[in-house]
Amino acid sequence: MSDSTVAEGKVVSIHYTLTLDDGQTVDSSSGREPMDYLHGAGNIIPGLEKQIDGRKAGDKFDVHLEAGDAYGEIDPEAVHKVSRSEFPEDAELGPGMQITAQDQAGNIQPLWIVNIDDSDVLLTANHPLAGKALNFNVEVVDIRDASAEETEHGHPHPPGGHCE
Ligand code: ZN
Repeated sequence: MSDSTVAEGKVVSIHYTLTLDDGQTVDSSSGREPMDYLHGAGNIIPGLEKQIDGRKAGDKFDVHLEAGDAYGEIDPEAVHKVSRSEFPEDAELGPGMQITAQDQAGNIQPLWIVNIDDSDVLLTANHPLAGKALNFNVEVVDIRDASAEETEHGHPHPPGGHCE
């Protein structure tokens, strides 16, 4: 346990539970190890990162984010149909799965599979939680300085370990 506060360049361990406005739990670290992220590196959604800034270990609080501050509004245009043959034949594909695509400018973009049939795969750039307000219950478990390697990589590493 450290007495520092959350700031850019710190690795922060949090427990969190994410619920929607209708009370449905989408994700929770409860019963698992806390989640580590590198503060200020865009590892988590910016609206949440901003609310954790300046907190201390042991702080527990609720964060409500409108869709625009979370995964964005739904863009009905952001749907693309691509041929099934664009994917490796042995790729396991299914609705809801996330893939990454590279556009012509070389930018990596996450896409989600909406639907799939024998010939085509329907993809959307809308995150599954786009258009939804999110409620996070957050507990800051620990705060530590990032190593030089973590800072360089832009993400935390497991204790004594290396990233994949
Ligand atoms: Zn790394």
